[in-house]
Amino acid sequence: MFQLPVCPYCHTVYRYKEVRKTKDEKTQKCYHCHKTFSISKFPGFLVLWLLVVISAVLLNIAVLLIMPAFNVIPLLVISFIAVLLGLVFIPYFVKYKKIENKRKEN
Ligand SMILES: [Zn+2]
Repeated sequence: MFQLPVCPYCHTVYRYKEVRKTKDEKTQKCYHCHKTFSISKFPGFLVLWLLVVISAVLLNIAVLLIMPAFNVIPLLVISFIAVLLGLVFIPYFVKYKKIENKRKEN
């Protein structure tokens, strides 16, 4: 967890920006060894969004306990920041996996 994905074949480390760019694609070709691997978001994404939801709920409860008067705006701001943080951490929860069916391509 909290690790950027690496190529499953040659263990080349991918940079944050590269992972972000390709996170919505299903496969990618390694720029180093030129082998194709699949991009897997689950269960990593599930864990990430669970963490986001839990931390947002806990923070909201904490704010409600601290604040004397009920105010929706700070709660919305907290939830918004939690979602933003979730989006920022997406590349750390992406995993690159070997493709099982061997295809010949060059
Ligand atoms: Zn590679």
